[in-house]
Amino acid sequence: MAKNIKGINTICTHVGEVKDEQFKGAVSPLYMSSSYAFEDVDVKRYPRYFNTPNQEALCKKVAALEHTEAALIFGSGMAAVSTTLLAFLKAGDHIVMQRALYGGTYNLATEEFDKFGIAYSFADGISVKDFEDKIQKNTKVIYIETPSNPLLTIIDLEAISSLAKKYNLISMIDNTFASPINQNPIDYGIDVVIHSATKYMGGHSDICAGAVASNKENIKRIFHLGKNLGGSLSDYTVWLLERSMKTMGIRVNAQNKNAQKMAEYLFEHKDIKLVYYPGLPSHPNHKLAKSQMRGFGGMLSFELNENLDAYQFQKALTLIKSSMSLAGVESTVLSPSKTSHSLMGADERKRQGIADGLIRFSVGIEEPEDLIADIEQAIEKVRK
Ligand SMILES: *Cc1c(COP(=O)(O)O)cnc(C)c1O
Repeated sequence: MAKNIKGINTICTHVGEVKDEQFKGAVSPLYMSSSYAFEDVDVKRYPRYFNTPNQEALCKKVAALEHTEAALIFGSGMAAVSTTLLAFLKAGDHIVMQRALYGGTYNLATEEFDKFGIAYSFADGISVKDFEDKIQKNTKVIYIETPSNPLLTIIDLEAISSLAKKYNLISMIDNTFASPINQNPIDYGIDVVIHSATKYMGGHSDICAGAVASNKENIKRIFHLGKNLGGSLSDYTVWLLERSMKTMGIRVNAQNKNAQKMAEYLFEHKDIKLVYYPGLPSHPNHKLAKSQMRGFGGMLSFELNENLDAYQFQKALTLIKSSMSLAGVESTVLSPSKTSHSLMGADERKRQGIADGLIRFSVGIEEPEDLIADIEQAIEKVRK
């Protein structure tokens, strides 16, 4: 079905439905069975084998959205990240990673890789040369995130995939911040695409899930480790995720629009020192972002002027919520130095340019006037 469908919202809504042959209902029936017959069946199904009817169907939707042959759904974004990395790395291997990584992925490398005898290096910057400089004889994987968290830096997908091909490495991307609505790394030659489906795919701050998309061969390899590690997602949540993904296109496009408006408003604001958003012409990678993204996404970061306390400002917001997570339909903010990047330590944060007063803003679907009014009243409150 995916082959002749062009529209992204049509894919979101229809690809990977489980047809309700029995009652002709409009939505996928939910198969909660954790026990399936082994006799006279084509497939031996079991939830941890990633092959229940609802899991198989949702994998098709993810694959269609990421332009890949196959996909797998996991119990969390980190289950997808860890299973995928460990499927391609063994003792004695080396990986080159972007320095500005999602906190959990950074912790996975720095806290766990030693135990498995896996060596890692962080690229010093975001240029191809920064990555190439770190490649060793035993390097197997290049791992990137673009746009990155929390400074929204953009990495050249085509350049990274060419570098990976030159050295015969597997290239992987965490595509969570862009979502498949805004960016399809496969089209630029990246091998494996990972998502925290907790974010834009779920979109309502009520699901924890992950996904990985790639060609059949890579997915088979990830599946073989995945069934042993056991990071599959419960079918009830798979069903909820399918429901959420039907509106991902319209949600993310609304968030793109709102984030652009909010970035422009903050950029002009006399009390705001800095705004990081790839959709602003002032962003150092704006042109590159424009060339490889269909939309600039719903995430931005900013710093208030020094005389205003960033933490008190966030507490003074009444509509925009404080949140550890992101990408819901409701707008949220957080301080990376106090949450996602707190374990990293002050020195590493400074090295990455993450100021203590930096505020990460996940823009929702509310009307921008209401978001602006909330920010204005919060600034007035902390000014006093
Ligand atoms: C949240 C997030 C993850 C981890 O996902 P979980 O679902 O929390 O395990 C990975 N990468 C990025 C970019 C994220 O935002």
